[in-house]
Amino acid sequence: MALIVQKYGGSSVADATSIKRVAKRIAEAKRGGNDVVVVVSAMGDTTDNLIDLANEVTPMPPSREMDILLTAGERISMALLAMAIESLGVEAKSFTGQQAGVITDTRYGKARIIDVAPGRITSTLAEGAVAIVAGFQGVTQHTNDVTTLGRGGSDTTAVALAAALHADICEIYTDVDGVFTADPRIVPSARRIPRISYDEMMEMAASGAKVLGLRCVEYARRYGVPVHVRSSFSGREGTLVTDEIEGAGTVEEPIISGVAHDRSEAKITVVGVPDVPGKAAKIFEVVAGAEVNIDMIVQNVSVAATGLTDISFTLPATDGQHCIAALTAAQAEIGYDSLQYDDTIGKLSLVGAGMRSHPGVSAKLFAALSAAGINLEMISTSEIRISVVTRADHLDDAVRAAHSAFELDSTEDEAVVYGGTGR
Ligand code: ASP
Ligand code: MG
Repeated sequence: MALIVQKYGGSSVADATSIKRVAKRIAEAKRGGNDVVVVVSAMGDTTDNLIDLANEVTPMPPSREMDILLTAGERISMALLAMAIESLGVEAKSFTGQQAGVITDTRYGKARIIDVAPGRITSTLAEGAVAIVAGFQGVTQHTNDVTTLGRGGSDTTAVALAAALHADICEIYTDVDGVFTADPRIVPSARRIPRISYDEMMEMAASGAKVLGLRCVEYARRYGVPVHVRSSFSGREGTLVTDEIEGAGTVEEPIISGVAHDRSEAKITVVGVPDVPGKAAKIFEVVAGAEVNIDMIVQNVSVAATGLTDISFTLPATDGQHCIAALTAAQAEIGYDSLQYDDTIGKLSLVGAGMRSHPGVSAKLFAALSAAGINLEMISTSEIRISVVTRADHLDDAVRAAHSAFELDSTEDEAVVYGGTGR
């Protein structure tokens, strides 16, 4: 008998039929003698639709109200799922994030979990019932305001509950059979990764792989929660995210785990920056002051005659206009000539713990991309990742070229995408 936390994403509970299908799966796990806690996302595109609706009402919805609005999505799916499970003769009770004891800080729209007090969940399990918890939501510690954890936040709810309950496993059910060597929507011959380390999964998530959120992987690593990513549409084994990797640190270790891509970033170039100490510091103080998280940075060599240089950096495109406004306001103080904004970039990242001990990975990647006629605009690396920025419309070709250069293509069945829109 085990304590299992299962999380079902929006595409797994998109309509009544899907909810009944998922309920059967949950009932089976319960009848198998396990304690089962289920975290559920909003049905299908509910969250996107609620956001659209708010934007129709006002261009600047207050963030407190936005969070109350969005948490309604998960309330709908949790109650329907509990009903569907009850109808199969298995007791089930649903709980909001607040009822489940998910306590967060006060940052609306991107709150962080600071504590989980799952008393009601524990007592529900003790009564022999399945506990269903609304994902993606919590409550602030002192003011009892409802918060959300940021898009895709239900994964984090699931891992946080698994950690607090000392669950044996946290199963994340989605619309693909696990974590793949590339997005199967772009590379149909992508291969399922049976096991991946927390570090590699964090780099993949940070580099745009949407299958698991970054916060969720960070949380899982911190508390050592084993996460099994798998499809709710098939019975197949998925991907185990763990620190117990066979062959880690040996020559057996695969050099590359996968290729991630990201289309959600933009590039800002600050043109004509005086090449004197303190200017980069000033620029990034302004950017940080605007609460913008930046990713890659490139500074060009200054032209000796002018003493001016250009500094480019990437950031989430959703923060683009906000950041431009902040830099524009500081133009006189920084003393640059002009700003360029480009949101037609794409980022490819090659991730693998084995690249630590293998020379030539960058050379091989750059050769493959140049053979595919792809120009590189920016490059950055970590110990286990190489990222490059390309034109957005070259990104799919770049992903395919890198994937085959590192011989990641599967010789078996093609990867199946069971549902969802991939957003
Ligand atoms: N429903 C929320 C979203 O679509 C949370 C989640 O799906 O994890 O972002
Ligand atoms: Mg969703």
